[in-house]
Amino acid sequence: MEKLYEGKAKVLYPEGEDTLRVYFKDEATAFNARKRGLIPGKGVVNNKVSAALFRYLEAHGIRTHFLEEVSEREMRVKRVEILPLEVILRFRAAGSFAKRYGLEEGTPLKGPLVEFSLKNDPLGDPLICPEAILALGLAGEAELEGVRATTLKVGELLKAFFAERGLEVVDFKLEFGRREGEILLADEISPDTMRLWDMETGEPLDKDRFRKDLGGVAEAYQEVLRRVLGEGV
Ligand code: UDP
Repeated sequence: MEKLYEGKAKVLYPEGEDTLRVYFKDEATAFNARKRGLIPGKGVVNNKVSAALFRYLEAHGIRTHFLEEVSEREMRVKRVEILPLEVILRFRAAGSFAKRYGLEEGTPLKGPLVEFSLKNDPLGDPLICPEAILALGLAGEAELEGVRATTLKVGELLKAFFAERGLEVVDFKLEFGRREGEILLADEISPDTMRLWDMETGEPLDKDRFRKDLGGVAEAYQEVLRRVLGEGV
């Protein structure tokens, strides 16, 4: 079937006017695609983990684009107009934030922090402040406040979900889309888009294993899936 769009980790296929099929690949990129590789089985993990998290969030009042899983690597979602923003929620300093402010990885923050980046690969997804988002018309004031409030709620829900499974949520990235005047949580939520640390050992079980060449990358993704599906801690 003809592709609508192929990204770094997913392919989108058009279905009807209203829905898309998302195929999750094993290809991995980091550092604005300067580092590339394969994580065998990643697509299956990210599809299943995203589906489980979208279902959980929906059950707790978050509106998402998710409709159903259609195969090991594919889900069906509502078509949305993606806002060109990466919305990041941080509980601890890590990654680009730790680097930017010269902080040790893992430094706790006083409270959850919402940050916005412009979704633009050639520009390297630069940080963007809420005033610039409004000035550029990327989102309206009510939309932006909705996105911020939903992100904080998702943060609380994911923190509780993963804590029950022995994993600490350090940070994550969300994307949102517009559909018929409503804003829906979209894209994916997976070990590609969040930092998860084992609460016992402090070991990262996410894409940082790939970014930092820590080894055991595919195994870490499988472990996250196992815990998300509730197969013991
Ligand atoms: N993240 C993402 N896509 C991006 C940038 C970041 O999914 O293009 C996620 C990343 O996995 C982490 C969180 O957002 O869980 C915060 O990432 P950070 O800004 O620290 O950037 P990084 O150092 O990971 O590039």
